[in-house]
Amino acid sequence: MSKRDYYEVLGVAKNASDEDLKKAYRKLAMKYHPDRNPGDKAAEDKFKEAKEAYEMLSDTEKRAAYDRFGHAGVDPNAGGFSGGEQGFGGFADAFGDIFGDIFGGAAGSRGGRSNVYRGADLRYSMEVTLEDAANGMTTEIKVPTWEKCGTCDGSGAKPGTKPETCKTCGGQGQVRMQQGFFSIQQTCPSCHGRGKTIKDPCGTCRGDGRVRKQKTLEVKIPAGIDDGMRIRSAGNGEPGVNGGPSGDLYVEISIKPHRVFSRDGDDLHCEVPISFARAALGGNVDVPTLGGKASFEVPEGTQSGKTFRLRSKGIRNVRSGLPGDLYCHVLIETPVKLTDKQRKLLQDFESSLQEGGERHNPQSKSWMDKVKDFFN
Ligand SMILES: [Zn+2]
Ligand SMILES: [Zn+2]
Repeated sequence: MSKRDYYEVLGVAKNASDEDLKKAYRKLAMKYHPDRNPGDKAAEDKFKEAKEAYEMLSDTEKRAAYDRFGHAGVDPNAGGFSGGEQGFGGFADAFGDIFGDIFGGAAGSRGGRSNVYRGADLRYSMEVTLEDAANGMTTEIKVPTWEKCGTCDGSGAKPGTKPETCKTCGGQGQVRMQQGFFSIQQTCPSCHGRGKTIKDPCGTCRGDGRVRKQKTLEVKIPAGIDDGMRIRSAGNGEPGVNGGPSGDLYVEISIKPHRVFSRDGDDLHCEVPISFARAALGGNVDVPTLGGKASFEVPEGTQSGKTFRLRSKGIRNVRSGLPGDLYCHVLIETPVKLTDKQRKLLQDFESSLQEGGERHNPQSKSWMDKVKDFFN
């Protein structure tokens, strides 16, 4: 298959400037980039063709070789071109930078030539009680904010002086660096993209043009919020650079451990100790809930570890508002510090149980059966 002429591929004249090449390539790349033409093989081929042509012609040495020898002069497979050849892997890597530059410039909303950045997001950790998380609340937090420095009126320069246009980048905020075959655009190391340098920085803001203050922000915690959830406060993060938008503030919620309840999503769990007499006889048991007292009935012969579910006594879901359940795990408490009379009563009681046989102790019976099997 014969290759098309690189100049023809890009649609430029033989004497096209670097700027012309870049413009032509940008146009083709925007049109044929695989991200914009998913699954379109023809577009992909066109993109690859344009990419190769641009890679070759945008490099002075390669372009010279191509002009003299044609494709044989630069085709990596032909081996006709010498001098620091890196192979295509190297090109692909460097290409990322060029491409990022092209698309970054086209897609970003850059005001002027200097670098515009969105401010960083801020994180604020807030610990709330389980009750507050369940019911929701409004609270105030103090967050950092940045204000224009009053001393220098935001210029960053000592009063009486002015910021100067950066000599390294001529105020553009970016410089081109030659790296191997490629010239790569980088943020200016002298002015860090601002396009201006300050000889005598303002003493108050140290040249930043802004000072850090505190502001009070009202935060609404929605009812049902759970551990690890975040509340976003748009635009309350760090300010942007060179007029970029501010970042966001994220309030991250962690819930303090509760004395009685543990939480599992919208459900609550608690342990409820009951006396063994109550467990044996059955009866009503009072339990606390986040919304007041509740009670449930334990049947006669309730065993330790039995769980009772109290519907809708959990936490309302933060989105649906539907309540979870409360699970009460019964613990049978062995009585301690017995009086002589109680001890006697218990001994008599135990004797009467033994007279009644193993039907009073179903768990002991099944356990004994298992142990017997184990030894036999
Ligand atoms: Zn200042
Ligand atoms: Zn500069």
